[in-house]
Amino acid sequence: MDDIANTGSSTWVDIPSGSPFPLRNLPLGVARRADGTVGAFVAIGDQALDLAEAVGTGFLEDSPAELGLLDAGRTLNGFAAAGRAAHTALRRRLTELFTDDRYAAQLSPSLIPLDELTMLLPVAVGDYVDFYSSLHHATNLGRLFRPDGEPLLPNWRHLPVGYHGRSGTVVADGTDITRPSGLRLVDGEPVFGPTNALDIELEVGFIVGAPSELGHPIATAGADAHLFGLCLVNDWSARDIQAYEYQPLGPFLGKSFATSMSPWIVTLDALEPFRVDPPAQEPPVADYLRTTGPTSFDLHLEVELNGTVISAVGFADTYWSAAQQLAHMTVNGASVRAGDLFASGTVSGPEPGTEGSLIELTWRGERPIQLADGTSRTFLEDGDQVTLRGWAGADPTNRIGLGSVTGTIAPADRHTGGH
Ligand code: CA
Repeated sequence: MDDIANTGSSTWVDIPSGSPFPLRNLPLGVARRADGTVGAFVAIGDQALDLAEAVGTGFLEDSPAELGLLDAGRTLNGFAAAGRAAHTALRRRLTELFTDDRYAAQLSPSLIPLDELTMLLPVAVGDYVDFYSSLHHATNLGRLFRPDGEPLLPNWRHLPVGYHGRSGTVVADGTDITRPSGLRLVDGEPVFGPTNALDIELEVGFIVGAPSELGHPIATAGADAHLFGLCLVNDWSARDIQAYEYQPLGPFLGKSFATSMSPWIVTLDALEPFRVDPPAQEPPVADYLRTTGPTSFDLHLEVELNGTVISAVGFADTYWSAAQQLAHMTVNGASVRAGDLFASGTVSGPEPGTEGSLIELTWRGERPIQLADGTSRTFLEDGDQVTLRGWAGADPTNRIGLGSVTGTIAPADRHTGGH
């Protein structure tokens, strides 16, 4: 793609070596400053530009993105809805501003150190769908939940299986996760209490940009026009509650208590250099799910638990792509809105140490994992802190970061948790 924003131009902004946010990234987020003001920001290095201030000084006045950013106020939904052309225009203008020394003096005061910002949810999530698109994860979960049957159900290779999640409990980076309580089987009987199998799920999230119309499916070839960008998602899961409740209608309270999303949205333009071919699909998929070209992304993901990296996995060979997921989500005529979130499902690889959940890493608690602090874990304990990280590109000198998302486990609510 001939995009000036993906060239190696140098910037007047001081960017630390190895930063996830070099000039060619320019992810967007929403943050609260120390003085309490909330606005849209673009991250560069270990700082972020307050876009409202940049608009106020006239630097973004030629950008069609300007109104969306201003209207958005506390979310990026308005800007997401403006569509790919607006996203690309803002990226080009920001690249001009950050690479031309003439703007340094005037814009520097609006560059805020990241550690002085409290990151908020970047969008108000309208609808949230979680898919199940990693072949290795679906196979592992099938073996764990249905040990006597075929691990993959017959539909899995024909359509991207998913379910509607709870958008109102999508939470921002740093939000504590209260241990949920519910009914789970103890010695074969349903007993109410705090989950004993609190887990994580390492996922990639896709945020919808330009909305679609009710009754008009999005084709796979047109999916990019409706995508704003990517983030990381931790689909916290209570495995014992999930195992008891999920039949026959699927995930419910074992998932809906909280889902964390990372704060910086990396736009599709930034990810263009990291597109890769998706894995071959066999048997062939229905026409509406067919794609051509590089519809996957060369992403690398990892899970850190209390300071120990417990899993590292590549995303590129995920069986179902975002384009296929979006086409599938709308093939019945359902529409999507700006800020809708859909997630890949847990990303797991075939090798030990590449699984994106504790139930797989520990094989439902049979094989505890050792942490650097000398302790071991099967599922999460109160006080545990989990951080998901991700980046695009295998070359450390030429990659861009998705940033990270962290959550810490808080004890069960004493009124419902029985403590
Ligand atoms: Ca999930």
